[in-house]
Amino acid sequence: MELETGYTSWQVDIRIYNDYTQHMFSINDTQSKCDTQLEAISAKVAFERAPLACAPHVPGVDILRGCRVGCLFCPYKWRGVNAGSCQLKVDILDVLESEVSTRKRNGNLAEHVLFNHFSDSFPQNPSARSLAYEVLKVLLENGIKISMKTRGVMPDGFKDLFKEYSSSISVEVDFFTMDEQLAKLYEPCAAHPQLRLDTIRTLLSLGVEVKAGMGPLIPFINDTTGHMEELVRHVRSAGATKAVSYYLYLAKGMLESFEENLPVAHFRLIKGAFRRRPWQQVGIYQMYKFLPVKVRTEGYERLGKIAKASDLLLTVCKCKDPSLGVSCVDKVPDKVHGGDESGQLSLFSVA
Ligand code: SF4
Repeated sequence: MELETGYTSWQVDIRIYNDYTQHMFSINDTQSKCDTQLEAISAKVAFERAPLACAPHVPGVDILRGCRVGCLFCPYKWRGVNAGSCQLKVDILDVLESEVSTRKRNGNLAEHVLFNHFSDSFPQNPSARSLAYEVLKVLLENGIKISMKTRGVMPDGFKDLFKEYSSSISVEVDFFTMDEQLAKLYEPCAAHPQLRLDTIRTLLSLGVEVKAGMGPLIPFINDTTGHMEELVRHVRSAGATKAVSYYLYLAKGMLESFEENLPVAHFRLIKGAFRRRPWQQVGIYQMYKFLPVKVRTEGYERLGKIAKASDLLLTVCKCKDPSLGVSCVDKVPDKVHGGDESGQLSLFSVA
């Protein structure tokens, strides 16, 4: 099929995995859990509507639709973004360059974008990875600041670019747990947690601002004091000084997916935790179930104490916990957001 842009439609078989996926699974396991294909699609626009309600001034630029990392708790696949496939916007570089020059002429070029917000910023697929690099290069060369997140490994080929523009890049490196087996269960195609610590080290060595994402927290699964202490200890020893966290929230269809993919005991714990919780509208389209405020507050306070004891500045992400969090895009939490004189957050929004 010929796309309107002149690109030939193709599919990329990603049976070849890089080291870190193979580190987690045997080849057979990997193929059954992580095998997926990228389908070529055409980008309609490069700069998209701001993906975060808590940062309405920050548009998104995404080279992918869908994410092959396949985390069970992913809040995005339930919006139709990740309906079993992963699509690469093969012509996005041309579209981006044209939009940048038009916006520059009109004086409305974005100052800051969220890159690949609905997938992983360091794609494992070589074609997607090259395209990610080229798109980041155009954005950075045009003075645009980038916020991005990953559960992966930073490719070596990105290092020079990140070093040159280190003051314009902020990366959230996300963790569910340091427990390898638990991580494998909930984020089957993400990098091994130890390798994500390496990503933190590499980014910090290049001068890039890094936050450790800790979540989603799930009662009795990864929100115990032991899990929290282990994770805080590791991200601190990798050099992270800031972290952001949130509790699991349910989108429609998520519980059924947990039932299908998790051991019965895990599924029952999660189902029980959300029993009788009402659906709440968030934004215009999304309906979510949140855990009781008491559960979330106590968990955040527990994590906050552990973080504070290790000099880790912790915030709760507002886009993932609208009633208790603060914007996770704001660079440094301050008093307006509840920080105290020492700069340590009280964790919650003032609302
Ligand atoms: S890496 Fe992020 S976007 Fe991808 S599946 Fe996991 S949570 Fe979703």
